[in-house]
Amino acid sequence: MQEGRIVKALSGFYYVETEDQLYTCKSRGVFRNKKISPLVGDFVELDVTASDEGYITHVKPRKNELVRPPVANVTQGMIVSSVVQPNFSSFLTDRFITLLEYKQMKPVLLITKIDLANESELKKIKDITAYYEAIGYSVFLMQPKREAISIIRNKLDSEVTVLAGQSGAGKSTLLNHLAPSLNLQTKEISTSLGRGKHTTRHVELFSVAKGLVADTPGFSSLEFPDLKPEELSSCFIEFETYKQQCKFRGCLHYKEPNCKVKDAVDKELIAEFRYKNYITFLEEILNRKPRY
Ligand code: ZN
Repeated sequence: MQEGRIVKALSGFYYVETEDQLYTCKSRGVFRNKKISPLVGDFVELDVTASDEGYITHVKPRKNELVRPPVANVTQGMIVSSVVQPNFSSFLTDRFITLLEYKQMKPVLLITKIDLANESELKKIKDITAYYEAIGYSVFLMQPKREAISIIRNKLDSEVTVLAGQSGAGKSTLLNHLAPSLNLQTKEISTSLGRGKHTTRHVELFSVAKGLVADTPGFSSLEFPDLKPEELSSCFIEFETYKQQCKFRGCLHYKEPNCKVKDAVDKELIAEFRYKNYITFLEEILNRKPRY
């Protein structure tokens, strides 16, 4: 028996990387009965049947999984946003951050197209990114590009990374900069709100620097289908210190009195734009039609 990680799935075959080699595997029927379908990123056990072939016999419990693209055990998401063309949107950024936090992936913010921004646009982006840094996120302004790329390569060390972000912000370009030798055939997936396109394209994890990177941008859908109202505030990490002191247990920091999160917004300890985005997401979740 060997152990490894699925790095690619294609036409019913799984490509499993073990410590020393790559095996082409099929999965045993037992998964179908248990309704477990192996995913790229899964840690598995395999029975080796030939020098480079085998059968997957067991899928280990997952830390998390994405649906589109279908990939498991992702540890971080790099959110690529441009300052202009298209304009930086804290609303979209917070949506990506929320989705990442909910799936327990570490958000990293990458800001592109700095050179196309004017002075006031630059000042604005610096203020916003300073806030994200202050609450604990890594932010990289992609300038000068070569230096930024080498810093980002270091950030990939020991991680399984997906790229996320608005289309047109430069995800594909960035992937190709990170791994020029791979000539990745990246495809921008539409991230229009509420309308994730179904893409059946396969996913592959590539070794870049000392980590693995998915060749397809993550989060084609930006909806929050599973998120419960009371779970949302944990995705806004700077609320943590205040929400323990809210008067009501289960406070949604919405219309409740004596809410310490709202107090912190009034005292400008929490940025107003973040709180507004929180409320927009919360109302979206509260107004969601129940699914049967
Ligand atoms: Zn509260």
